Amino acid sequence: MSKIVKNQAKTRTEIPPCGLCGKSKKPRYKTECCGNWICGDESEYVMFSYSRDICSRNHRRFTLCGSHHVEGHKGDWKTCKKCREDFEPEMYVWYGMNEYNFEKLPNPPAFEPTYCSKCGERIVLPDGGYSSLCGVYRCDNCPITEKEREEIIRGYKSKHESK
Ligand SMILES: [Zn+2]
Ligand SMILES: [Zn+2]
Ligand SMILES: [Zn+2]
Ligand SMILES: [Zn+2]
Repeated sequence: MSKIVKNQAKTRTEIPPCGLCGKSKKPRYKTECCGNWICGDESEYVMFSYSRDICSRNHRRFTLCGSHHVEGHKGDWKTCKKCREDFEPEMYVWYGMNEYNFEKLPNPPAFEPTYCSKCGERIVLPDGGYSSLCGVYRCDNCPITEKEREEIIRGYKSKHESK
């Protein structure tokens, strides 16, 4: 009996699962920004649904890696000064550390937490649920009234014009 050599090696190269959600059901492709395998079809996004189910969209919109690429910055996003200037420090850290990253920011800078200017409640910027005007932050329980709006803008202008 001659030995039957089974040689049905998989010549088809296997596409690795999505680097973010770990699933391999959906079609995957490499990200333009960092060349990692990712799933998600952005055309499936429903406007204003704020859905965070589309990995490719999450990575492009909610990470430094993605925005660094979209903005056309040079070099590595982890050391990019423009990225650092573009975002408030709290958002910068979140963009660099959240679960939509393949690689996280190595040395996230410390940042001052943001508080509601009226009630003093801590506002977690990445969670939303606040409004801001000229550097004044308000939680959702303390919306800026029309009168306050004028005052804030006036205060802001006088601070910036008297230079
Ligand atoms: Zn995915
Ligand atoms: Zn990337
Ligand atoms: Zn950048
Ligand atoms: Zn408040």
